[in-house]
Amino acid sequence: MPKAKPGLYALYLRKSRADIDKERLGEFETLAKHEQELTALAKRDGYALDVPYYKELVSGERIADRHEFQKMMRKVSNGDYAGIIVHSVSRLGRGDPMEYGWILFVLKSSRTVIVTPTKVYDPNDPDDARFLQMEMFVSNMELGNIRSRLVSGCRASARNGCFIKSRPPYGYDRAKIDGMWTLVPNDDAPTVRMVFAKAASGVTLGETARDMNASGLRTPSGGFWSSSRLHSIVTNPHYMGMIRYGYYHREKVPVDGFETKIVQTLNEDCIMVKGKHEAIVSEDVWRKANDNCRRHSSAKVKRGKHLKNPLAGLLVCRKCGKAMIRFVNTCQSNGNKIEHYRHPPFTDCKARGANMALVVSILCDALEEIAENLDAAIPLGDEPRADELESVERQLAVESNRLDKLMELYFADAITIDEFKSRRDASEDLVRELKAKAKELGRKRKTPAELAVTVRDAIGMLRDDSISADAKNAALKQFIERIEYDNLTERQRDQDIRLFVTLKEL
Ligand SMILES: [Zn+2]
Repeated sequence: MPKAKPGLYALYLRKSRADIDKERLGEFETLAKHEQELTALAKRDGYALDVPYYKELVSGERIADRHEFQKMMRKVSNGDYAGIIVHSVSRLGRGDPMEYGWILFVLKSSRTVIVTPTKVYDPNDPDDARFLQMEMFVSNMELGNIRSRLVSGCRASARNGCFIKSRPPYGYDRAKIDGMWTLVPNDDAPTVRMVFAKAASGVTLGETARDMNASGLRTPSGGFWSSSRLHSIVTNPHYMGMIRYGYYHREKVPVDGFETKIVQTLNEDCIMVKGKHEAIVSEDVWRKANDNCRRHSSAKVKRGKHLKNPLAGLLVCRKCGKAMIRFVNTCQSNGNKIEHYRHPPFTDCKARGANMALVVSILCDALEEIAENLDAAIPLGDEPRADELESVERQLAVESNRLDKLMELYFADAITIDEFKSRRDASEDLVRELKAKAKELGRKRKTPAELAVTVRDAIGMLRDDSISADAKNAALKQFIERIEYDNLTERQRDQDIRLFVTLKEL
């Protein structure tokens, strides 16, 4: 092996998807193993390692998900390193061709070599460059294959009526029968049946939730039942024995360079088939319950409550990006007021409008699924920041109290003006510092679990008549960047409204 050039070397560690699977089977912790191996290599061959090492704790294939990698590449492009030490080339780039093209370009222009236990690659050497390109290309192909195999496998199972999501709906357990995943009603099934029976007989979900809470029933996580929670039960087709798969489509789209955003859409062409599992309610009861829920939710407005626009500043036309306008129609036959969203007039773009209650209810469904996805997401491992932020905020509260006290002391002539000034200045400095710290900590992303709570709170608010549109709007703006609206309805009876929710980078 040729001795590499002198200078500082970066050590990059990242788990691959395969490592995670192996670890699940009891394999040794991969990163620790690689770290040991690579530091021994550096020692043996005389590479000076920069500390700290770049240790990727999350398993992302895309550069946007790999913050340590971004950090390292910034230094690489500054020419800070003679080389990168890595377990294999595929650890660097396994994203799409655009990404590994960029990686190679940066390495080449900064004359940075790649050191692996088997070979040292110099991107400026034509043979090595070809080799690197091949390795990254092949691992990208493999990844593509794995992904498409996974997805097509899932769709095929769903079409066969299997339940392939990780979380069963309330009232069911997931079980493997004859080698296939399906649902089996559990002890909560009677509660589900009761909810449907009440909804079908015209009791509102809010009333049912209040009754359930009063009689001591709690959600699986020990919380109170809400109409929003019950709504997600009543509208879930699994309970009448169906399998719905691919209704919510979540994908990452690039926004700026390697930054991505998650976009969620409702897919009306999703798989909807008879499931292998036992229904908890009959189709007839399910439909009655759903019809009643829809009637109740549109009755909200008919009771004459003047909701303003809860989606102000969020809902825009998907085609032209213009804000959708809230509009109140008066029904000619009975004088009831009905709220609508309309496309702004005098443009080339003509999107059909829609009933506000319907749009809000579709949004609630989409948010419910986002919350569920967040529940299943892997935490990023920076929870300690929440504690730190809390203590900084506590300290801030103490300090602002202290300022008030100083004023009191001064006005009570207990301290001189000079004393007051110097103590106030010291306190104000500290407050400034604390505020800066809180801002820095606050900017750190929320954990998926925290975000899920925020999302569910917002759903609860959206479905609660007694909450003002302003408050709903503020709750949504905490985590939603934009909601794009598209209406593909052809016949009035079959409303086909699609919302594309873009979450804020949190
Ligand atoms: Zn438009």
